[in-house]
Amino acid sequence: MKKEKNDSMDKIISLAKRRGFVFPSSEIYGGFAAVYDFGPYGVELANNIKKEWWKAMTQLRSDVVGLDAAIFMSPKVWEASGHVKGFSDPLTECRKCHGRLRLDTLLEDIGVAADEKMSEEEINQIFDANRDKIKCPTCGAQDFTPGRSFNLLVQSNLGNFTGDWTKEPVYLRGETCQGIYVNYKNVLDSARVRIPFGIAQIGKAFRNEITARQFIFRTREFEQMEMQYFIHPDQTKEVYENWKKIRWQFYLDLGFKEENLKWHQHENLVFYAKEAYDIEYNFPFGFKELEGVHARGNYDLTQHGQASGTNFEYLDPATGEKFIPHIVETSVGVGRTFLAALCEAYREENLNGEERVVLSLPARLAPIKVAIFPLLKNKPELVARAEEIYHALRQKFRCEFDDNGNIGKRYRRQDEIGTPYCVTFDFDSLEDGAVTVRERDSASQERVKIEDLEKYLAPKLG
Ligand code: ATP
Repeated sequence: MKKEKNDSMDKIISLAKRRGFVFPSSEIYGGFAAVYDFGPYGVELANNIKKEWWKAMTQLRSDVVGLDAAIFMSPKVWEASGHVKGFSDPLTECRKCHGRLRLDTLLEDIGVAADEKMSEEEINQIFDANRDKIKCPTCGAQDFTPGRSFNLLVQSNLGNFTGDWTKEPVYLRGETCQGIYVNYKNVLDSARVRIPFGIAQIGKAFRNEITARQFIFRTREFEQMEMQYFIHPDQTKEVYENWKKIRWQFYLDLGFKEENLKWHQHENLVFYAKEAYDIEYNFPFGFKELEGVHARGNYDLTQHGQASGTNFEYLDPATGEKFIPHIVETSVGVGRTFLAALCEAYREENLNGEERVVLSLPARLAPIKVAIFPLLKNKPELVARAEEIYHALRQKFRCEFDDNGNIGKRYRRQDEIGTPYCVTFDFDSLEDGAVTVRERDSASQERVKIEDLEKYLAPKLG
């Protein structure tokens, strides 16, 4: 079973490279660990995921507004938030192959409950009690250094011209939500919002992840889609339960099977958190965190209020009550959603006696919505008319023109990148003004009048 699952991951990785979804960063120089680039179809899929999230979280809600804060922030932000001191994972090193490993993950892999939030001492006690069961995943050795906390913040020399920037480092943001907290008052004062309301943001985050296996599941540079919802403390339970429902439904609406999702409740809450659940997805390497839905209390605004001297108290215009807003957060990675979408969509099947690989992506996520082919490349009358259709349809949908190889081969290629519809202009089209439209999943074909094509496709493509 495990081997089958690993095989399916390998196949998804290979498809992602072969078809231009994901490339290892700086590959011609041997790669750059835990950093990946999105290729031509990958950037389309990632953009579509972000569009769906942005639409659900801002456009369709009158109580959530958007923000795009800069990646660089004052280092004081990361001191006040607790990241400089406490944003760390427990690290151990294999004494044989010198591979660096996350201790909590090693323990989790043998079914022992551990958490990155445990103190160095706590986790080392559990580690010592289980050393005989833990093997290095790379070389199999059982000889490890004691665990130590390793800070994940990535440092930079931005704006530092002294030549020794390690003394006063600035940081690439470790999470996007800090940009939301420090702009809370700006938004409140400018955007005509009243509590309860949310601020949503999509943007890059950086973490010096200790182990970065499993392809784009865990990378050192990644993008987050985060929403912070500001509330009166008495609203916590109701608002929290509501966001849990909304975020679960988001994945069902993206076409994820419900049996591939589950809730995981955090056992070891950080001291300020009131409630913390993750939505886990059934990746080929097991159920793992996709998104966190957390009730953070008023920790964030209190910390920034104290450190900056800003008064974050909210005056309720109806009751006259003053309070520091509490926060419910939803937070998910673009890359993790991307990988989950690929896993969900990947199928190998036998179609009329021929093997095919197909990405059954929902039309809204598919990188290309419609591919347009002339039946033969060397017939200018077919090519010209197919090009006309391509130029007309691409005003409305993301389209691709392809006249390479036989039709069967072109279908296979579009199946592998998840294109829901292929349109072929053939010799009959010259006579009847209609084209063959082939649907990806059923492979069924229909003749559609050229003038009706847009109307025919629009509702199917959502
Ligand atoms: P993990 O336990 O997997 O390290 P986390 O609990 O530290 O994740 P959060 O800080 O809650 O993650 O981040 C929120 C979301 O951001 C995660 O659910 C995940 O989707 C995404 N994310 C976090 N770290 C990474 C990473 N290194 N690479 C890709 N996505 C990430």
